[in-house]
Amino acid sequence: MSSIETTTQLQWHEVAQQVLSGNALTREQGLELLQSSDSELLDLLAATFLVRRTYFGRTVQLYYLKNAKSGLCPEDCGYCSQSIVSDAPIEKYTIANERVLMEGAAKAASSQARTYCIVASGRGPTDREVDHVCRVVEKIKADHGLHICACLGLLKPDQAQRLADAGVDRINHNLNTSRRYYEEICTTHTYQDRIDTLEVAQKAGMELCSGLIVGMGETHDDILDTVFELHALNVKSIPVNFLHSIDGTPLEKREDLDPRQCLRILCLLRLVHPATEIRIAGGREVNLRSMQAMGLYAANSIFVSDYLTTKGQSAEDDFSMIEDLGFEVIIGGHEMAS
Ligand code: SF4
Repeated sequence: MSSIETTTQLQWHEVAQQVLSGNALTREQGLELLQSSDSELLDLLAATFLVRRTYFGRTVQLYYLKNAKSGLCPEDCGYCSQSIVSDAPIEKYTIANERVLMEGAAKAASSQARTYCIVASGRGPTDREVDHVCRVVEKIKADHGLHICACLGLLKPDQAQRLADAGVDRINHNLNTSRRYYEEICTTHTYQDRIDTLEVAQKAGMELCSGLIVGMGETHDDILDTVFELHALNVKSIPVNFLHSIDGTPLEKREDLDPRQCLRILCLLRLVHPATEIRIAGGREVNLRSMQAMGLYAANSIFVSDYLTTKGQSAEDDFSMIEDLGFEVIIGGHEMAS
């Protein structure tokens, strides 16, 4: 082994020790991490796993996602197959009725997911949609006791309060990218609109789930801005989406990522947010490909089954992957692993 490789190994191990002793990863270290070489990748992953293991052991949290309202969205988010500017041939429907949402909850429970994510397309919900979701959430809580995360777009304060009062535990609203790059991917609402909704949800007493999408043409600095902004917002859960470019969307045919860079990005998230749940979210299968299991050395959560408008690998394959790693799914209960 060359002396350079020895020095590098020591460096990532030292960075992990620094993080474990309570000294956060600096922005400069984050940039170095994103630019690190392929030959350092296993050392970086091993060091990152020390941090992951300290806070989450070998546990994996599963999330099950229901697209409760699909397409028909007036917004122009460039990555999204449901936007008004997308020609992608997706299923389009208005808000799902109680039966469909309850079936999704039963599927979440039988898939060993602790959290049921109810996701609706659109700029934000109508008051009637909020009332509908509130009624169904009360039933889901009574029947299945699942943790509920709602992703309904931009929220007004009174809507957020009604959702919190009905038992919604968490609101998902992703930053997606940096403030600087935001207008390159969406012009119909602003980055600040997204921050405002997160603040409204937090004031109503709900936890925040917010993450990013990488692979949209952003720079390393944009990724770092987003990752550190999420830290300032004190989010409890971070979904890391890897762009799955869909034909018919403005970002079709974009393939900026390779599996090794995806792993580096997951390591960055873990080292900046040591005790926060990090989820490998949309685009896991198509971007990490044969290396997706390795992502769980940094992240501690995945979606089981499908995404909003794209298929994921089967739940059986997810369970096999977790078992092959020697990791275990957290079943039942709502408390975070520590
Ligand atoms: S991400 Fe949400 S707001 Fe943006 S286009 Fe898709 S459904 Fe609409």
